[in-house]
Amino acid sequence: MTDWSLVYEGFDPAKEGLREALCTLGNGYFATRGAAPEAEADDIHYPGTYLAGGYNRLRTEIAGRIIENEDLVNMPNWLPLSFCFNGSWFNLMAVEILSYRQELDLRQGILLRTIRFRDKEGREVTLAQRRLVHMGNPHLAVMETVLTAENWSGSLKVRSALDGRVVNAGVARYRGLNDKHLEPLAAKATSEDTLYLKIETNQSEIRVAQAARTQIFMDGKPVALERSAIKEPGYIAQEFPIELQQGRPVTIEKTVSFFTSRDHAISECGLEARKLVVRAGRFDELLHSHALAWRMLWHRFDTQGEFTSPEAGERTARILRLHVFHLLQTVSLHTSELDVGVPARGWHGEAYRGHIFWDELFIFPLLNLRIPEITRALLKYRYRRLNAARANARQAGYRGAMYPWQSGSNGREESQRLHLNPRSGRWIPDNTRLQYHVNAAIAYNVWQYYQVTQDREFLAHHGAELILEIARFWASLTSYNAALDRYEILGVMGPDEYHDSYPDAEQPGLDNNAYTNVMAVWVLCRALEVLDILTVLRRKELCEMLALSPEELAHWQQISQKMRLVFHDDGIISQFEGYDRLQELDWEGYRRKYGDIQRLDRILEAEGDTTNRYKLSKQADVLMLFYLFSAKELGELLQRLGYTLEPELIPKTVDYYMQRTSHGSTLSRVVHSWVLAHSDGGHSWQLFNEALESDIADVQGGTTSEGIHLGAMAGTVDLIQRGYTGIDTREEMLWLNPCLPSELKWLRMRIQYRGHFLELEMSHAKLKINSRRGETGPIKIRFRDQVHPLQGGEAREFLLKK
Ligand code: BGC
Repeated sequence: MTDWSLVYEGFDPAKEGLREALCTLGNGYFATRGAAPEAEADDIHYPGTYLAGGYNRLRTEIAGRIIENEDLVNMPNWLPLSFCFNGSWFNLMAVEILSYRQELDLRQGILLRTIRFRDKEGREVTLAQRRLVHMGNPHLAVMETVLTAENWSGSLKVRSALDGRVVNAGVARYRGLNDKHLEPLAAKATSEDTLYLKIETNQSEIRVAQAARTQIFMDGKPVALERSAIKEPGYIAQEFPIELQQGRPVTIEKTVSFFTSRDHAISECGLEARKLVVRAGRFDELLHSHALAWRMLWHRFDTQGEFTSPEAGERTARILRLHVFHLLQTVSLHTSELDVGVPARGWHGEAYRGHIFWDELFIFPLLNLRIPEITRALLKYRYRRLNAARANARQAGYRGAMYPWQSGSNGREESQRLHLNPRSGRWIPDNTRLQYHVNAAIAYNVWQYYQVTQDREFLAHHGAELILEIARFWASLTSYNAALDRYEILGVMGPDEYHDSYPDAEQPGLDNNAYTNVMAVWVLCRALEVLDILTVLRRKELCEMLALSPEELAHWQQISQKMRLVFHDDGIISQFEGYDRLQELDWEGYRRKYGDIQRLDRILEAEGDTTNRYKLSKQADVLMLFYLFSAKELGELLQRLGYTLEPELIPKTVDYYMQRTSHGSTLSRVVHSWVLAHSDGGHSWQLFNEALESDIADVQGGTTSEGIHLGAMAGTVDLIQRGYTGIDTREEMLWLNPCLPSELKWLRMRIQYRGHFLELEMSHAKLKINSRRGETGPIKIRFRDQVHPLQGGEAREFLLKK
């Protein structure tokens, strides 16, 4: 085992779904689960292939209502490759497995599987497979299979296929819903060794073409074979016999191309798919260019460090790399050519239907400081849906732009109306769409991107408009409470999804969620500020285009000073108005009874109770404020509103909510770890380690196999990147305020900031920052209340011991 690879020894049917998700290969354009190529979807296996942003809508009747869902479509399976001797097709469950090893090589981006098995007649075979989804050319994938007959000679039949008969069946909870998204268009063998398949999604009309070239080599030389085609609607295969000689390996290479009608620079997707597969080189050639693309990515994204415990450190380093790996397989530079957002669950499975939530808040900081071009593209996904967000706002009776909680193809609200509690079997109303705070996250992300890059063109032509229209939405959402002379936001949900209404209320929604109200104030402040950053011309244009009047700006100013926050009697910020009147939960009792109580919502609903009645949280809500803002910034925001954030109240507030959080979302521990980084390094490190385990150990007991949790993956890496280095990018400066945990001896990373390519080295004693490019103008480094200019080509060193 090394810290660059994930290795599984032995075949474990119960864990196969998890391995498939964690061994997914992708390139930001498409992704394929690490499923066995000989397997079809069944209780053990789920070979899924997903196109970034490949959505389709279907209707289903549920509980007497017609509901429509937009799903990330399971695209044709390009993997199928199997073989048969003596009439039975290879099936892991039907042979004696002598050895089994699966390895995900993170450095090169390849998945390897080596199996030795014995069939019922005593024939032993070694099967060694390598596969990659090309990081250099997003339209290519290739799989190499080497078969060796160990103690026999004889013939076997090989079948290679492209299978478009697949449905969306990756998430058990969704199985009552319509699942057939693909319509077959064409399936044929286009040359002796090439298969071709074309399908169309039945609502969104995305045409997808795949071509597969299957070649056989013995002693490095191609072998010509008699092939026969098998054709069904949506399916094309070819079969051919091969002669195995004892101890002489036979290599089968299956090279696959993947195009869609939405690609750029194409004539017709089928033509491109057929053309590319013919031109593609052999496995090793493709591996070379693929590994080179990964090497360049790792150069930017890898963080080196040394741990006090080498053993624990190796595991931590491996998981962090796994997280970066999956992030880059979901969104890469290829994504910047597409119109897609960053899906909460990766393109790794069908959970949450590939939708885009607020999770980008946890993901963009990593991209901003490494390849901000990717963030820019992902922010444009939001910008292109600005008109849809305006329409959403108008429809709901508001102004400006109201982005949906769950977003898919065209910016419509994709949150479901009902969701299934698998524990009780009941379909229950889903009010999560009331999480308007996603809008604040979008504005925050635009601002962060600008702070890191100083990309004024983006701000002028896209970012500012987003911030202004979102600010306008917040202003229109507030209501004025004359008795208090305060503005309020009523009837919403905060990040904590376990509270969607007051106990026994008829209408969903909560009043004065602290996180939402503070974020609304922050957005209004940035909206006022952004106008000053723009050129006079652009400011004028935008004000005219958006009909922004001085009166409206004055109104924003006023709201930003008079928003209401609610506090408990002891001064703790209340999650929402009335939170303090809820009951305390018997945490110990529930832990004793259920063990794992992360999903208290399901537990309580199944008991006929509801989380709404208790002082509990699914995830960080008030504490999100301490995640997004430094104590200083938050203090200033509160001061603006006429409240004070007493320093001694911070640990009390943190402690209060930590004790009442069940971590039903994997995002939660990331936030809690971050919040404690400076005050309680030991506890922070413990939570960081728990957050690291989210996917690799599938801590939610079965959800990772349905898709990774990208927010927690990127969030944990960012805890190292920004959390423990204390990097903050605001007020046009790069702030550094390290708090390296004692488990780490030193850290080294490369980041990009405002045109500078910076190398950062940090130990407990000192911090070194080195700007690599000589010709870049100065940036400002803020360290302990002092601002230090740094020119391109310069280095600075700060001593950390006080
Ligand atoms: C969390 C949300 C998150 C979503 C997608 C939910 O369980 O509560 O905060 O955005 O998952 O990751």
